[in-house]
Amino acid sequence: MPAEIIDGNRLAKSIRSETRRQVKKLKFTPGIAVVQVGDDPASTIYVDYKQKDCERVRFHSEVYRMSERATQDEVIDRIQTLNGRKEIHAILAQMPVPDQIDGQAVIDAIAPEKDTDGLGAANLGNLMINRECVLPCTPAGIVRLIESTGEEIEGKHAVCVGRSSLVGKPIGLILLNRNATVTYCHSRTRHLAEQTRSADILIVAAGKPEMIKADMVKAGAIVIDVGINRLEGRLVGDVHYESVKETAGYITPVPGGVGPMTRAILLENTLKLAISQCG
Ligand code: NAD
Repeated sequence: MPAEIIDGNRLAKSIRSETRRQVKKLKFTPGIAVVQVGDDPASTIYVDYKQKDCERVRFHSEVYRMSERATQDEVIDRIQTLNGRKEIHAILAQMPVPDQIDGQAVIDAIAPEKDTDGLGAANLGNLMINRECVLPCTPAGIVRLIESTGEEIEGKHAVCVGRSSLVGKPIGLILLNRNATVTYCHSRTRHLAEQTRSADILIVAAGKPEMIKADMVKAGAIVIDVGINRLEGRLVGDVHYESVKETAGYITPVPGGVGPMTRAILLENTLKLAISQCG
């Protein structure tokens, strides 16, 4: 039987509607600031999307585009000014940054209570020790997609292909905190297919177009495809969708799976931060 498609667009839409409904009830306006350094075209597009999303749910949003030649101190100064502004409840530093800047140092300069991407060392550290924290947007979106299947997480074998601090590592920790048994795979993993075939929940965030084929997936598995790649003019994930959807129990499409959820969770995180600062 072909897999059930997990519809990220629909879930993201419901998160946006709920966020907007909550915002209407507030006596203040949640405020978010995005800092972009340089003019990487993909980053510019992402920042524009984020700003539009914020407008749709009636947040106040500010975008700071800094020069490609900005120094680390200048960027951190900007963040610190934003940390001090009461009407800005959430700050996001768009990655990547130019080579002269240490991206993690910039993220770490964001006050933890305003770190809406949850990627600062303080929030990631709290995730590590299973303490309440801001969950990074993509991993938090992935968990919601898994939950939407109605399948239990506890006791399942989750395999994460990819170990970045942005996706792979935090999603593994979140699932571990939810009592899954977690295996991390990466570019040096031997016998990858043996690992992926044993996954009840397979999360692929490697940035390698269509690397996961049907014979690497257990029948009935939940397959979450995080990858976004251009292949011969098409947008494809890290999973070979057409073949894997015949084997998996559930699968996310690309586009329309994880991507829209990442954006929706940013709104939800921002709302939570604003309420915790003003509510
Ligand atoms: P990254 O390059 O930082 O990390 C890639 C990881 O994959 C590394 O840990 C590497 O060891 C592993 N890897 C690479 N080749 C492998 C192989 N052949 N076998 C096993 N592991 C391998 O990437 P990232 O930032 O984690 O992003 C991964 C993908 O997810 C990219 O395509 C990116 O565009 C996408 N992404 C999507 C969203 C979204 O919202 N949909 C968000 C973030 C990232």
